[in-house]
Amino acid sequence: MSEEIPSLGVCPRCERTLGEEWLLIEYERADGSRGQFAECPECDAVVAPESE
Ligand SMILES: [Zn+2]
Repeated sequence: MSEEIPSLGVCPRCERTLGEEWLLIEYERADGSRGQFAECPECDAVVAPESE
């Protein structure tokens, strides 16, 4: 039995899965879609998570 852990996506640099605990800000793009910035603990940098 596996538990579904909500994640933001993966780090574009190291491909680590970023959980919601790393979310910094959410914003709305001009086209209405949702964008997010998260802090990657591996890269020690702010990244835009990519969906898996
Ligand atoms: Zn990373």
